[in-house]
Amino acid sequence: MAEKKIPYKIYLEEKELPKQWYNVRADMKNKPAPLLNPATLEPMQFEDLRPVFCDELVKQELDDTTPYFDIPKEILDFYKMYRPSPLVRAYFLEEALDTPAKIYYKFEGNNTSGSHKLNSAIAQAYYAKKQGLKGVTTETGAGQWGTALSMACAFFDLDCQVYMVKVSYEQKPFRREVMRTYGGTVTPSPSNKTEVGRKILKEFPGTTGSLGCAISEAVEAATTQEGYRYVLGSVLSQVLLHQTVIGLETKTALEKYGIKPDIIIGCAGGGSNLGGLISPFMGEKLRGEQDYRIIAVEPASCPSFTRGKFVYDFCDTGNVCPLAKMYTLGNGFIPSANHAGGLRYHGMSSILSQLYHDGLIEATSVEQTEVFEAATKFARVEGILPAPESSHAIKVAMDEALKCKETGEEKTIVFGLTGTGYFDMVAYEKFNDGVMSDHIPTDEELKKGFATIPNIPGLNQ
Ligand SMILES: *Cc1c(COP(=O)(O)O)cnc(C)c1O
Repeated sequence: MAEKKIPYKIYLEEKELPKQWYNVRADMKNKPAPLLNPATLEPMQFEDLRPVFCDELVKQELDDTTPYFDIPKEILDFYKMYRPSPLVRAYFLEEALDTPAKIYYKFEGNNTSGSHKLNSAIAQAYYAKKQGLKGVTTETGAGQWGTALSMACAFFDLDCQVYMVKVSYEQKPFRREVMRTYGGTVTPSPSNKTEVGRKILKEFPGTTGSLGCAISEAVEAATTQEGYRYVLGSVLSQVLLHQTVIGLETKTALEKYGIKPDIIIGCAGGGSNLGGLISPFMGEKLRGEQDYRIIAVEPASCPSFTRGKFVYDFCDTGNVCPLAKMYTLGNGFIPSANHAGGLRYHGMSSILSQLYHDGLIEATSVEQTEVFEAATKFARVEGILPAPESSHAIKVAMDEALKCKETGEEKTIVFGLTGTGYFDMVAYEKFNDGVMSDHIPTDEELKKGFATIPNIPGLNQ
């Protein structure tokens, strides 16, 4: 075998950690549409968002002109515990696929919470602490976000109240216990703790909950307790901003070896991990300095980009949150029970939605059994047991590498490996037992979701 100049893992030194997050909105000619107040249809202002979110985070949310935000020292110090994360050259996968393509992945599963979500959790906890708050509330579906937030709150000695979708609370007891070990309080949602929870329980006594319902409970809990704010793990522009640490590190690592990617691939749930990975590359593309093909991958069962509408919709099912212009399946859309919990959101980041609308990124959807086939192949050659969400990106990276095999092109592919699958063994069990199924919603099913998009005069025409 010829000597390999590029190492299996490109590690950066601690001093090479990014000192600033990059705000891609500053370089966008077509800015993402502003969040709207559903009552007035006016853009949300600082004062409107203050009761719900921390002040500093509201400023980040509303700022679409400042290109760089300094990462506070306290956050940078926390990042040093698990960052920079490795950029891995997938030599073994290339060999297994017999492809001339060069494949790299940025691995975000090297921390106890198991995913990229910690990058934003620690930032949000820091700003809450700095504002002198007592604690934060949030919802969690599959549990990754609640876990990351519990870790972050433990570090800054903040109270952390997590509303966990009841079905996950019961099915994923180990996720729950990790959160409790880090000091988080975990409540199965819907619960008796909030008015909206009690109302839902009365209406639907046996319900196992939904993300939309858990969001409504968490927002109520934040706004009715003195010294609390609500935090969110994806979708919002502030979260995407914090996640740019992924892309900035990736770019520095590639540049060390003079590597320029041709294709960048990531899974898209609410869009923060993909947005964070691509931001610095997109900046170059927007400024006309470089060109890249960028591919968002979503589950065929929850196809916001590929089959959704680009309209204003509520961010939550309970319709208590602001309206965002995004690719959406409708706030009442309930995806079939697929196993990529982190990719089950009805909408998409307004930044990525605008970029997709402007033709700057592509999107594709994949079915879950083919995703698990790719995940299994990847695990066997590269060693890492990938999260089902991340495996969506693996699947498309492998497909692109196989296309290179046909054409003989030596393309460089970079994809985001967002987390580990240790808590997803029920899904792997289903796959291993051959009882996993695929569900692609029919147009009729999608229509039901679209019918829940608000029909307000002057909005969405
Ligand atoms: C939450 C999650 C995702 C989805 O991330 P978004 O930023 O919302 O697109 C992907 N992978 C893993 C492992 C996750 O936990």
